[in-house]
Amino acid sequence: MMRFFKETKTKGSVNLIRQKPDLDKVDALIIPGGESTTISRTLVRSGLFETIRNRISDDTLAIMGTCAGCVLLAKTITDTTKERVTSLEAMDIEVQRNAFGRQKESFEHTLNFHGFSNPYTAVFIRAPVITKVGRDCEVLAKFDKKIVAARQHRFLALSFHPELTTDLRVHEYFLEMI
Ligand code: GLN
Repeated sequence: MMRFFKETKTKGSVNLIRQKPDLDKVDALIIPGGESTTISRTLVRSGLFETIRNRISDDTLAIMGTCAGCVLLAKTITDTTKERVTSLEAMDIEVQRNAFGRQKESFEHTLNFHGFSNPYTAVFIRAPVITKVGRDCEVLAKFDKKIVAARQHRFLALSFHPELTTDLRVHEYFLEMI
């Protein structure tokens, strides 16, 4: 995102969110990849979980969740329990973690992303897939018939990692959602 502001000379800044008060300064949040169990635990312990949930219900925060972040936006996670991953439940989507199995844990593939005029190269790392979307969700991209990008209101769930390529179109798309 930092690269986006620099290269396009768009006004805006990037802040690291570590504690509750950090969130007061931002209009949008990116929940990155990593391990959804660990991120979820850290969010709950730091109190950020509750603060983010409040901002979601006040409708004052746009959120992009990439990979593990996508898992944390989901209302339903099919392969684990709520005790292991406490999700923000911001989007009416069902997600399955590590859905591409072991042999294909990490790979790169081109996708047709809704609204983009040419193909987008996506990097998948032990990626989840979105197995169901609710009526209010828009499917933005599929890979091998599986949903890998969806939007609901100001929330964007991505199975892949847009920060790992030089293509900034997904970041631009997200900023337009704010
Ligand atoms: N497999 C991880 C999880 O389920 C996500 C991996 C990633 O974020 N690259 O949380």
